[in-house]
Amino acid sequence: MAAPFRNLTVSDHPLVQHKLSILRDRATPTKLFKELVEEIAMLLAYEAMRDLPLEPASVETPLEATTQWRVAGKKLTLVPILRAGLGMVEGVLRLVPSARVGHIGLYRDHDTLQPVDYYFKVPGDAPEREFFLLDPMLATGGSAVAAVNSLRRVGAARIRMLCIVAAPEGVAKMAAECPDVPIISAALDRELNENGYILPGLGDAGDRLFGTR
Ligand code: URA
Repeated sequence: MAAPFRNLTVSDHPLVQHKLSILRDRATPTKLFKELVEEIAMLLAYEAMRDLPLEPASVETPLEATTQWRVAGKKLTLVPILRAGLGMVEGVLRLVPSARVGHIGLYRDHDTLQPVDYYFKVPGDAPEREFFLLDPMLATGGSAVAAVNSLRRVGAARIRMLCIVAAPEGVAKMAAECPDVPIISAALDRELNENGYILPGLGDAGDRLFGTR
């Protein structure tokens, strides 16, 4: 699907769009919501990983020896932004079970209004890794930019972001502050409302995932 931002790819896969429409429905219960977030995350990861480098590998089939292709390096790291990003982890791990999982927790400082990490843990060899930042909602972009900056501080050079619904405001902020971080999303929605919710959106992703509404 054509997207008006160079840093954004919106998946036009019919399964992604079908699942997203159910996810948006206010009547979708918590259990189904969680399953759909996992499934969409898996489908987005498939899209986001299409350019991972391959290396040749020798394989013995039951009939003969052959040279085939395997993903080179396997240093993939998923980094959910707490808390809603946690909902995407299992889906991506189903595709890449060997990926490591870091975590970033952020809060907004009341005085400066700047995001501050209260929790940050990723593998030590960050410069050699491919990072996949996970957050279902890219709203203002404040948390996403702060998470990218935290990853950069420990030497991460290759970062991509997977989200399910993106707002133009968040994508524009990422384009301005982290133009080398590609974003893969299931949707680019219309706008943010005055409370920072995405319209039409799907509501509070964390509350809907964890049943805390
Ligand atoms: N976070 C959410 O969970 N939903 C939004 O609409 C915006 C940010």
